[in-house]
Amino acid sequence: MIACYPGTFDPITKGHLDIILRAAKMFDEVVVLIMKNPRKKATFTEEERAKMIATVIEKQNCANVRVEVGSGLTVDYVKKLGGKAIVRGIRAVSDYEYELQQATANQTLDPNIETVFLIAKPEYSFLSSSIVKEVALGGGDITPFLPAEIIKDVQEELTKG
Ligand code: ADP
Repeated sequence: MIACYPGTFDPITKGHLDIILRAAKMFDEVVVLIMKNPRKKATFTEEERAKMIATVIEKQNCANVRVEVGSGLTVDYVKKLGGKAIVRGIRAVSDYEYELQQATANQTLDPNIETVFLIAKPEYSFLSSSIVKEVALGGGDITPFLPAEIIKDVQEELTKG
C-alpha cells in the first residue's frame, strides 16, 4: 500500500523524520509530499525543501521513501499517486482539532483514502519547523532539532542578513 505524508516541511525536523521512518515500516511505499500552499509564506522554496528531504532520506537508506512536490487538493494528488493512506503526526491536543477537521474533509472528498495518525515521540512533541526558525533567529543552537545532513544549509539560510 502506498501512503503519502503531506506537509510543509519548512524545513524537515527530527520530528518529521521520525514519522517518515515509522510510516516506512507500515507501508510498502511512503511519498513525502510537499504541498504547494499559495497562502503560506515559506522560508525555503519547494525545491530547497525537497532537496533537503531527499538528502535526509538517502542517508537513512529507506528505499521505499521518496519525496514529491504536489499542488491542488491533497486527496486528488494522493489518488493520482495511487495512494490509499494519508499519514499525519499529532503532537498535542492543539494539533488534534485542525487534523480532525482536515481528515474529515478529506474523508468526505474521497472515502477511499484513510488518514492515519501517528503520535509524536515525547522527545519531539514540542518540535516544529517554526520553533527551529525562532531559535535560529534568536541565535540559539538548532542542532538538536534537525537531521544532521541539513543543519549547515538551514543555519546559513536562517541567519543570513
Ligand atoms: P502542515 O503545514 O501541513 O501542518 P508541517 O510540516 O508543519 O505541515 O507538518 C506536517 C505533519 O507533520 C503534520 O501532521 C504535523 O502535525 C506533523 N508533525 C510536525 N512536527 C512533528 C513532530 N515533531 N512530531 C510528529 N509529527 C510532527
